Amino acid sequence: MEACDMIEKCGFLLRYSPTNELACRGFVNRYCKGELKDQCKRKAFKMANGTPPPDNMLPTGIYLSGN
Ligand code: SF4
Repeated sequence: MEACDMIEKCGFLLRYSPTNELACRGFVNRYCKGELKDQCKRKAFKMANGTPPPDNMLPTGIYLSGN
């Protein structure tokens, strides 16, 4: 399956992959390179607003606290 075209520059992955590698890999497998790719809420946010969502927004649309 083709990966999301944002995968190299996705703020969520750039911010959290270094410290939460395992959790991010799960999102990558399910969303960025998986069957939920077209349901990513980050992608929907960008399409709706023209700008990327905050880095702490998960692909599920939930915001991580601590930002
Ligand atoms: S989190 Fe969403 S926008 Fe970011 S690379 Fe994955 S599928 Fe694309």
